[in-house]
Amino acid sequence: MDKKLIGVDLGGTTIKFAILTEKGEIQQKWSFETNILDDGAHIVPDIVESINHHLNLYGMEPEQFLGIGMGSPGTVDLEAGTVTGAYNLNWKTSQEVKKVVEEETKISFAIDNDANVAALGEQWKGAGENDKEVAFITLGTGVGGGLVSNGELLHGLGAAGEIGHMVVQPNGYLCTCGNHGCLETYASATGVVRVARDLAEEFAGDSKLKSALDDGQEITSKIVFDLAKEDDLLGKMVVDRVCYYLGLACGNIGNLLNPSSIIIGGGVSAAGVFLLSRVEKCFLEFAFPTVRKSTKLKLAQLGNEAGVIGAASLALRFK
Ligand SMILES: [Zn+2]
Repeated sequence: MDKKLIGVDLGGTTIKFAILTEKGEIQQKWSFETNILDDGAHIVPDIVESINHHLNLYGMEPEQFLGIGMGSPGTVDLEAGTVTGAYNLNWKTSQEVKKVVEEETKISFAIDNDANVAALGEQWKGAGENDKEVAFITLGTGVGGGLVSNGELLHGLGAAGEIGHMVVQPNGYLCTCGNHGCLETYASATGVVRVARDLAEEFAGDSKLKSALDDGQEITSKIVFDLAKEDDLLGKMVVDRVCYYLGLACGNIGNLLNPSSIIIGGGVSAAGVFLLSRVEKCFLEFAFPTVRKSTKLKLAQLGNEAGVIGAASLALRFK
């Protein structure tokens, strides 16, 4: 009989869980708020307790599961199953995640970085259509990403797939990583607003966005995209600039990896085809001719579920 998978998506505000079949169909899901008090000391015990509670509730035994897979923020040591430097969880020191979860649930456990896991989810059950060559970019409060090649995540020596820190503008905006001109500084939700503020300074024409910024109103990337869709001149300039950098990044990813698809997800991607078509125009400018023909740009399909689905797929390695 086919075994089940458990996917865990650990985030700074909620922890999401799902029980899936080996084919990736979600059968049960639940979530609860992340308790980051006491240096995040409650997080792993809470996860273990919640899994054991739900297995009990559904009358399931550990033997019925192939494994548990989890996506986590911070720096993940894949072999040791530990996480360090996950500041939104208050995890400053190394956390023994794998050891504790395996001991307490009696189920095999695998872990990877949250953006990598979302990439696996989209590659397996989302826009990637289970193709073996897929790149994924997520545009949220930061810009993350993951690269799947030959069906496996690329890790390099640990930090591969840091698409957000691809430099798209030498001497550009200062990034939280200490470098200048990273994609994240332009294409994250905060990056879009930063571009808007900068372009507004030199902009002299008629624009609702310009007036809102000058008035000191709170601007979000969604407002910028919505105004651009309404033909706001400054809004369109901001979107064009952001899409130029995204297209440049996608062109370079395509030229390096030639995946079948580069999938764009995350909050900013809610702008949909309006965003995608503009990124694609720039991508086609920068992509190598054969890449231009073979690599397709797509919008993510799984939304919030990419994390639990991709995390669960980590457990397929225990087959
Ligand atoms: Zn950076």
